[in-house]
Amino acid sequence: MQRAAPQEFTRVLSSMCTEPHPAARDAAERFLASNPGDPATYRTVARLEHRAVETLGEITGLSDPNGYVTSGGTEANIQAVRSARNRRRVENPNVVAPESAHFSFTKAADVLGVELRRVPTDEAHRADVDAARAAADDDTVLVVAVAGSTEFGRVDPVPELAAVAREAGAFLHVDAAWGGFYLPFADREWGFADAPVDSMTIDPHKCGQAAVPAGGLLFRERAGLDALAVDTPYLESTSQATLTGTRSGAGVAAAAAAMDALWPDGYRREYERAAELAAWFASELRERGFDVADVELPIVAASVPESLFERLREAEWRISRTESGELRVVCMPHVTREMLAAFLADLDDFDER
Ligand code: PLP
Repeated sequence: MQRAAPQEFTRVLSSMCTEPHPAARDAAERFLASNPGDPATYRTVARLEHRAVETLGEITGLSDPNGYVTSGGTEANIQAVRSARNRRRVENPNVVAPESAHFSFTKAADVLGVELRRVPTDEAHRADVDAARAAADDDTVLVVAVAGSTEFGRVDPVPELAAVAREAGAFLHVDAAWGGFYLPFADREWGFADAPVDSMTIDPHKCGQAAVPAGGLLFRERAGLDALAVDTPYLESTSQATLTGTRSGAGVAAAAAAMDALWPDGYRREYERAAELAAWFASELRERGFDVADVELPIVAASVPESLFERLREAEWRISRTESGELRVVCMPHVTREMLAAFLADLDDFDER
């Protein structure tokens, strides 16, 4: 029987997923049929999940982490909103988030019946703290800070947003779904040790090089996780805090294996490689006269004419645009200098300015 071709990453410049580490790929295959949703029955994968959560705690600066491996950042963000809503118990709950926050918060607000108050970002695409303060009130259950935004790779002022949350009596959630595996090496204030952060999203299946689906959700306090738990009468395990029921043992085992292999030195090396690559690519685009946003974490956003963008797409480059129209290139582990050099060669061929 012919096997399906593996996912080709050779022209993918827009995705936040990547080629998994070989140890993660191997672990995913071995745990395909196990269900960490029932840890009392599937004990080996439950132990791996415990180990993965411990390592996520180390990465984010939390010594006694409470959390689990989610099905991606969307589940983690929905659950962070749900936990805050359940713990605050106000009549008309709202969440304050910068407009750069991922669309998973729109889903969270919709399914949970919470109002989402999106506040502007500043000219550097980071959350505007004054706007967040003005939007927060007694009904705010959660303030969101993004540490590594999806479009521009920006890190919001986490300590200042934490102060806004405290003033409003709300929780502070950091969405580091994409940035979390770079930030320990990037000299930013973003983690549990830097500010009174209550919860965090950090996804092993993005820059952690695990297999899909492996997101991560952490709470500083046990009560954050407990606020999500329901009784599970027919399982060996008696309660469950996850949003999904049966979930991927492959994702959990891959997350543990990838972090065992790469934390901290492998991730540090990859951060340094990606940062250098992004700086080089940004300077190449600037030399060609394109307007390029400052690079913070390794995402390059540049204004290119619509016709040029479309020609590159027709040439099978998998690229995307920001909401404001910039070409966006995410320097994930599978993105190499050779790939970007080939992209620039096509760009030079197609450029009609
Ligand atoms: N948060 C951020 C900052 C993201 O960039 C993304 C996805 O790119 C998500 C959350 C959602 O993650 P997922 O697609 O794994 O559900």
